[in-house]
Amino acid sequence: MTPQRAVFLDRDGTMIEDVGYLDRLDRLTLFPYTIDAVRLLNDAGFRVVVVTSQNGVANGVLTEQFLGEAHAHLSRAFEAAGARVDGYYYCPHSPHATVERYRTDCECRKPKPGMILAAAAEHGLDVERSFVVGDRWRDIEMGLNAGTRAVLVETGYGKTEATRTPATMAHVPIVANLIEATSWILRHA
Ligand SMILES: [Mg+2]
Ligand SMILES: [Zn+2]
Repeated sequence: MTPQRAVFLDRDGTMIEDVGYLDRLDRLTLFPYTIDAVRLLNDAGFRVVVVTSQNGVANGVLTEQFLGEAHAHLSRAFEAAGARVDGYYYCPHSPHATVERYRTDCECRKPKPGMILAAAAEHGLDVERSFVVGDRWRDIEMGLNAGTRAVLVETGYGKTEATRTPATMAHVPIVANLIEATSWILRHA
């Protein structure tokens, strides 16, 4: 089987409103273009994989069970509109976690590339032909560490991040939001 291209999407601030710790489904708000962006990527032959840091789990503010429910809820919204997310990967760890079993210096904490490498192994993805979209430099750095290309969006923390671009990230395109990032990827893939 030929390895598939993928777009790895940060969740909070990239696909949905960043509300701090998302701990109730009624606080989950997709940006108006997110479903269209995912469908466009599906139609262009990209696998779409969510890669998200969930410090709230490490700190006992939300459970992995709730996280699963939130992602099932997102998947139903995509499915109802003919779009598809192929996988969800999250890092529930922190070296400073208040919940002991999540207190570890893991390989999946952004900007380490663990989530991307795990998804690539499980889904047969061609990392070199793949992209990361996120609103934080650590999202972008995770992608570059894994060997993808990457695009920063100005939603979420992105506007602030864009004012302090690290020298090593100067080549990374910065666009308004996920639909613009999708358009950039489709032009540069
Ligand atoms: Mg984010
Ligand atoms: Zn982790």
